Amino acid sequence: MGLFDKVLKDVTKGLQDAAKAVEEETKAVADGLKDKAAEEAVSDAADTVGKGASDVMDDLKDAVDNMNASIKEADEATKDITPEQWEQATSYLESMAKDALKGVRVCFECDEPVKGDQKFCPKCGAELPAETVMEMALCKKCSKQNDVGTDFCTGCGAKLPYKEYKEAFQRKKDDKVLEGWKDKIPQYPVWSCGGTDFELTKLEENRYFFGAWFEKDPEGAEAAVEKYRAVLKENGFRTAGEYPSDEHLYKMVDGICCHADTEHCFDGGADSPGVYFMIDDEPRGGFNYVKPEPKKKSGDLFGKLFK
Ligand SMILES: [Zn+2]
Ligand SMILES: [Zn+2]
Repeated sequence: MGLFDKVLKDVTKGLQDAAKAVEEETKAVADGLKDKAAEEAVSDAADTVGKGASDVMDDLKDAVDNMNASIKEADEATKDITPEQWEQATSYLESMAKDALKGVRVCFECDEPVKGDQKFCPKCGAELPAETVMEMALCKKCSKQNDVGTDFCTGCGAKLPYKEYKEAFQRKKDDKVLEGWKDKIPQYPVWSCGGTDFELTKLEENRYFFGAWFEKDPEGAEAAVEKYRAVLKENGFRTAGEYPSDEHLYKMVDGICCHADTEHCFDGGADSPGVYFMIDDEPRGGFNYVKPEPKKKSGDLFGKLFK
């Protein structure tokens, strides 16, 4: 190694060492700064939390003070009232409430209470019931006046007019849904399933959903779905495609493949079955899918051997 090379090497090494030292120093300074910043942040946060907590405690204390003051006031105001007077006061309030409810009828469509003898709801236009809410809570069997909005008489268990009316109202609504079926999905037979609270919704173009409700009767719901599959088949629907299953039934109507999907019937719950109707929806492999013949073995081995 010549002198020039040695000098060059020493200088280079010196420079590298210096650079390394600077780098280490910088890192140490940076770490120190980071620690300091973190320390400050923690102490700031602690200050904030402490301040917030004390504010909250003050608010809480105020609220408790106010509540205690109210309780004391109420105690003062009612300390001379006898149990008999209490009884009297409550029954008076009750009779006032009952009086106020006389002549009040409630719209079954939108729950609006209406006083007076209007025939139609001023809020939504639905026909109002002929009976008032009080009349609907009066038992026809044992004459007990039940609380407004009671379904069954607490005196004898009979179904009250309120419940009768509610059911009749729902039936009317359900009939309307079924009437609209022909306009929406005439390709499919109507499913008058036996449940209640029908809905027939258009989800998107050529996609519909029909749902019903079977209160506490999942077996009834299951049977209704089974029955509808049979009705579909009686009406020319059949399994099709590569994976035939009764849960998906198809029919060609005017050259368009109509699909009734009962596979996801109970996704919404065991007592609320629903069927999807999909127009223009061919199954995988096509409506007239034919399973291909298994490939024949090439040649006849037995024949070949004994020719
Ligand atoms: Zn209304
Ligand atoms: Zn009764």
